[in-house]
Amino acid sequence: MSVNMDKLVSLCKRRGFLFPSSEIYGGLNGFWDYGPLGVELKRNLKDAWWKDMISAHDDLDAPPGAPLAYQMVGLDCSIVMHPQVWKCSGHYDLFHDFMVDCRESKKRYRHDQVRGRWVEARGKRFFVATQVGGEEGLKETETRALKHLGLRAKQVEELVWDGALVSLTTVASFEEVLGPDATSLGTLTPPREFNLMFKTFVGALSGEEGAAFLRPETAQGIFVNFKNVVDSSRVKLPFGIGQVGKSFRNEITPRNFTFRSREFEQMEIEFFCHPSQSPEWYRYWRDRRYRWYTDLGLASSRLRLRDHDHDELSHYSCGTADIEYAFPFLPPGEFGELEGIAHRGDFDLRSHREGKLARINGELSVELDAEGKPRHKGSGKDIRYFDDQIKERFYPHVIEPSAGADRGTLAFLCEAFHEEEVEGETRTVLRLHPRLAPVKVAILPLVNKDGMPEMAARIYKEMKRDYSVYYDDGGAIGRRYRRQDEIGTPYCITVDGQSLTDGTVTWRDRDTLEQIRIRAEDALPELQKRLRI
Ligand code: ATP
Repeated sequence: MSVNMDKLVSLCKRRGFLFPSSEIYGGLNGFWDYGPLGVELKRNLKDAWWKDMISAHDDLDAPPGAPLAYQMVGLDCSIVMHPQVWKCSGHYDLFHDFMVDCRESKKRYRHDQVRGRWVEARGKRFFVATQVGGEEGLKETETRALKHLGLRAKQVEELVWDGALVSLTTVASFEEVLGPDATSLGTLTPPREFNLMFKTFVGALSGEEGAAFLRPETAQGIFVNFKNVVDSSRVKLPFGIGQVGKSFRNEITPRNFTFRSREFEQMEIEFFCHPSQSPEWYRYWRDRRYRWYTDLGLASSRLRLRDHDHDELSHYSCGTADIEYAFPFLPPGEFGELEGIAHRGDFDLRSHREGKLARINGELSVELDAEGKPRHKGSGKDIRYFDDQIKERFYPHVIEPSAGADRGTLAFLCEAFHEEEVEGETRTVLRLHPRLAPVKVAILPLVNKDGMPEMAARIYKEMKRDYSVYYDDGGAIGRRYRRQDEIGTPYCITVDGQSLTDGTVTWRDRDTLEQIRIRAEDALPELQKRLRI
């Protein structure tokens, strides 16, 4: 089913999942606030990740597909770290995108995100740029080419197109480019580098001396604490450290709802292992992480695991795969990244000790400046791992599954959104996995009298201690069910006349619409059972 994004965005606003940040002041591009239901949904996703990957992970037996049993621990690091962290990690020099500005529209674009196609008409040949993909992009470029030439729709036959939509990066000179929001040619500036890290100043020092950055990823906090974790928690290789937290990137063109934001949350694991076993562990994590999304309800037909081509790999990586989802706002056939799983070798730990590494003549070595000194000095601290069985000190290899909590939340919302005809009415339903649903169960007294509210309140209070439960006694029962369907509540419990005589309640299932009677005291165990699935 294709999801109508406008309807989903409006539901998110109307029912309190997501609001534009600082909305009363007109919003701030690239920033979002989670409302009362959104915060529960995103927290459930992060909790599911934390539980499945870290706290409930079984240290004693190897999980299916894993070469060995392994340990997992957690960490929560500061957002602002020593500026040298970002110099040695490579973010200071390399974490940039190329942007182009439009002198006419004053808009800014990410160079690699603009596409377009060449057209010839009235003795002119030019490139019509657009930010829209697929069929819509073709239509849009057609309309704008006509407008630029002063032609009417019926003169469309005069346009002779040369090839499909291609990236602006394939165009050498911008003299013949009609920018995505421009009416004349040649208004785009040449691409310029733009570092994505947000800069800030620590303490009373102004100027470069006090300059620091908001972290663009949570991973580096894990690397710089590697030795602390090993020394304090007696973990042995192979083991992983996980962290969930905010990251910040000054994205040039935030868009597609929360998909590309400037402030977002990541759920990252750095998994440390012996170098000889890293290829096996890389494959394990790639498959394990893919399965996690399907287990929680993303359809495998809309999810893909894409291994990066050799030329896409970072300078340190021996293998990277992305888990991608066919978000409904993307053109058909296109996918957006949910998570990257990278084999990072020993790049990070070595850089934080020896100084920033770079690939020189095919080998990773410390990058030197003109005077032959390390370009960015490492900490000098020996943060290698000591294996007391083989009596060897070495840099472990690292596998990094790095997921976005906001992109995950958005993917689960898109997957869950359905509109269907039920008894001649359109029912909007979020088919969220019960573990993710913001409200687990709604307790509904059929009428507000005859002892029904009292019995319903007793069930509500009993469940509320452990679960997010909603009590609703307002309006016709059908309307109350619809309100719960729309926010993804998997179960409703209705207390009716029969409840008062035989102690049973109606248990309604959101997806099958099946209603069964169960004893009121079995309601809590029933919920517990279903949430464990
Ligand atoms: P993209 O290519 O889409 O910019 P990336 O490859 O730079 O993503 P990573 O650095 O691998 O992303 O970050 C890991 C995860 O963090 C991504 O898979 C994504 O889920 C999330 N993420 C990264 N950038 C953003 C963003 N601007 N907004 C929301 N989530 C993001």
